[in-house]
Amino acid sequence: MFKMTHNILRNLVVRKSTRRYPFEVREAFDKVRGELVNDIVRCIFCGSCEVRCPSQCIQVDRKAAVWNYDPFACVFCGVCVDICPAKSLSQKTQYLRSVDKRILISMQGELKKKSREKDKEAEKDKPAPVEPEGPAATG
Ligand code: SF4
Ligand code: SF4
Repeated sequence: MFKMTHNILRNLVVRKSTRRYPFEVREAFDKVRGELVNDIVRCIFCGSCEVRCPSQCIQVDRKAAVWNYDPFACVFCGVCVDICPAKSLSQKTQYLRSVDKRILISMQGELKKKSREKDKEAEKDKPAPVEPEGPAATG
């Protein structure tokens, strides 16, 4: 009984060794693999992240240019970030905040035109070349 009372009194004055998460969030360490973000403007909808993700939490609709992600199935391994050819994926140093319901992330982007198509369009828009005026041919 004395020991318990002693412990209770001691716990009232000593510094707590735990935090009141999520109200008190610890400062992030460098290189923490936290929340995954996609800069959808850079995404080329190649589907590599979907193929390589070990927890199958990404789906890419290449035709509709939609990137879907389930953060609650993600294990934050960083594989998708490493293999993304457009460097559109990155991870914050903060973990995903706790929420009271499951969320799915769906991002709509724009399909990038292939460079050949772009070149063709640029060619179409070019003004017709003007023939240089020279001396009239004499016969
Ligand atoms: S790997 Fe990168 S560029 Fe390719 S679909 Fe995924 S996020 Fe987009
Ligand atoms: S961090 Fe890992 S688990 Fe999460 S989406 Fe990327 S590859 Fe999948």
